[in-house]
Amino acid sequence: MELNNKSAIVTGGSVGIGAAIALDLAQNGVNVAINYRKHIDEANKIVEQIKKMGRKGIAIQADVISFADAEKMVQTALKEFGRLDILVNNAGINQDAVVWKMTEEQWDSVIEINLKGCFNYIRSVTPIFKNQNYGKIVNITSINGLRGKFGQSNYSASKAGIIGLTKSVARELGKFNINVNAVAPGLIETDMVVHSPEEVKQKALSEIVLGRIGKPEEVAWVVTFLCSDKARHLTGEVIKVDGGQYI
Ligand code: NAP
Repeated sequence: MELNNKSAIVTGGSVGIGAAIALDLAQNGVNVAINYRKHIDEANKIVEQIKKMGRKGIAIQADVISFADAEKMVQTALKEFGRLDILVNNAGINQDAVVWKMTEEQWDSVIEINLKGCFNYIRSVTPIFKNQNYGKIVNITSINGLRGKFGQSNYSASKAGIIGLTKSVARELGKFNINVNAVAPGLIETDMVVHSPEEVKQKALSEIVLGRIGKPEEVAWVVTFLCSDKARHLTGEVIKVDGGQYI
């Protein structure tokens, strides 16, 4: 892919899908800044791997719910790399409960991290992307934002919100040569699902027509494609990476 010397921010790049995205972008020539909340050692290891590939990498402890942190991280990445071309909004959590048992705190934290977190970073990078008349934004949603899921009203609402955000922002930014797309994974083997109850995993697995749980790098490859100019005529799209789980 022709991504040499581009620079990216990947939110939630310490583990799981975000770490795979950060590494695949670096593999394709991109300098990458990641943020994280808790996994400091893992975040530093990802940065080490990025540097071993000959790219610049930085890890910043920054909670995506903080707009001030987002602005600071964007400015730090810009200063460190000299330019910024790509934003991948990946950080996300789930806190599952049926709606009649869901606490206000569970609702608020999932909506704030998953949805407002995307706004914070999009708002912070767009002045830069607009000025340079170039930018790629990829938001990680979920197939459960397309179809809803039992026990995940907060999560599904946040992920459906990301789809609306993606399409609106794609319309606003198209004239500035900025592509805005979303990737909707199905069940992917990460910490987020390792702790799910076994019957929930088995039910999801039974839906996947390719017959296996996806791997983080299989999501990352699609994100890298969307960040490349081979995808320059794609915007406002939601691409499922789910082994056919949704169909
Ligand atoms: P994960 O393994 O739990 O990793 C989540 C990442 O987000 C970590 O790097 C975590 O950082 C970071 N993060 C969480 N809250 C944050 C916050 N407030 N501020 C900054 N960073 C924060 O999850 P994953 O499975 O890789 O999921 C990544 C994305 O894919 C999420 O948006 C998720 O909803 C989506 N997704 C996952 C699946 C799946 O099956 N795994 C399916 C569909 C969609 P620290 O832990 O270091 O704090």
